[in-house]
Amino acid sequence: MRQLNENADVVIIGGGVVGLGLAYRLSEKGMKNVVVLERGYIGSGASGRNPGGIRQQLSLGENIILARESVKIYARLSGELNFNIMFRQGGYLILAFTEREVEQFKKNVKLQNSLEVRSRTIRPKEAKEIVPMLATDKLLGATYCSTDGILYPYAVLWGYAQAAERMGAKILTFTDAKGIKVEGGEVKAVVTDKGEIKTPVVINAAGAHAAEVASMVGVELPNKPYRHEIAVIEPLKPFLDPMVLSLHHTLYVGQMMRGEVLAGVGNLDEPPSHELRASADFLPKLARAIIEVMPQFRHLAVMRQWVGIRDMTPDGKPILGEVEGVRGLIQANGFGGLGMMLSASAVKLLAELILTGKTPKMLEPFSLARFREEKLDKEMYIAGVH
Ligand SMILES: Cc1cc2nc3c(=O)[nH]c(=O)nc-3n(C[C@H](O)[C@H](O)[C@H](O)COP(=O)(O)OP(=O)(O)OC[C@H]3O[C@@H](n4cnc5c(N)ncnc54)[C@H](O)[C@@H]3O)c2cc1C
Repeated sequence: MRQLNENADVVIIGGGVVGLGLAYRLSEKGMKNVVVLERGYIGSGASGRNPGGIRQQLSLGENIILARESVKIYARLSGELNFNIMFRQGGYLILAFTEREVEQFKKNVKLQNSLEVRSRTIRPKEAKEIVPMLATDKLLGATYCSTDGILYPYAVLWGYAQAAERMGAKILTFTDAKGIKVEGGEVKAVVTDKGEIKTPVVINAAGAHAAEVASMVGVELPNKPYRHEIAVIEPLKPFLDPMVLSLHHTLYVGQMMRGEVLAGVGNLDEPPSHELRASADFLPKLARAIIEVMPQFRHLAVMRQWVGIRDMTPDGKPILGEVEGVRGLIQANGFGGLGMMLSASAVKLLAELILTGKTPKMLEPFSLARFREEKLDKEMYIAGVH
């Protein structure tokens, strides 16, 4: 058990990829007194429960830019952190099973290409050359980007945490943030279950609990927690280069560098909840979807299934930056199903904001204030394109 600091320059609530990434970036820029509060163990939230899919093939320009910059960061992060994050750029293959998807994917590729992401639309025949076990009878087309990939999420977390600690950051696990003290509209301290830490800046990187943390100071976030189930299939020799995604089946399948295959399906009808227990109907649903897309999977054994909670915003974009009315409170949450792929660049931009007091241009589209607008542009997996 580590001693609580009396004072800090910044207190980050949440020891996931966002909180730890930000602790690393602030420490790297020379900030000495950075404290991370994590109520469980490192990676006990969504960051330790996802397959590490990294894709730039998104539908909103601002998300594409964050993902594009994150890919550049991940490509050199192992060396930078001196920790192998097992990032493998085997591409991402996104399958189209409906005419609506075909049309949307054409638009996506055009936008992605205009933002220097080298994705392309391909025919079923070429998709099958990339993934030979693909069933193409119902497939109308696909998009592909060879620089997308997959990484090992825990390695990113441990890498960030160790590098931040080497530079003086303090990561306090099993320490719960219970309240935030604000006086005269400015953050003054964070109250934890182990005592109080005085600080002028608090970062809300609490993932699926971000709305609760914001409500400690009367700020209302539109974020909602949604369960998402995932399974690991027995490890095999490398056979699946890209991560395969079918929005139509809400299915993704990818093989890690260590051989294991991770696969999940979503349930769009499920109400918000923090329930972490696995459900009985997930595996049959996953099996049906995966066998329809890649029939040879019927021979493989599932090793384990689990649940993670996604911190979803109504438009599928994170909330990043200071909120009006509470000086020193910074939002770094709402990453939904895209937190591994968007956060590497987002935390760099947030560090710049914290250190200079100025909001970098790339962060502007992610302010909480956007929810005052009547019409929101939505990322395609939220918009229900399929
Ligand atoms: C099954 C699944 C599959 C996914 N697939 C992908 C994918 O392929 N690619 C991708 O990019 N993203 C994916 N995601 C999304 C990604 O995992 C998340 O967006 C990302 O991990 C969010 O990181 P975070 O740091 O914001 O939150 P978290 O990792 O949830 O971290 C928040 C932490 O805050 C802590 N906390 C909360 N409240 C408090 C408090 N009051 N005091 C102290 N600590 C507190 C929690 O314990 C938690 O550890 C997936 C998510 C799931 C669940």
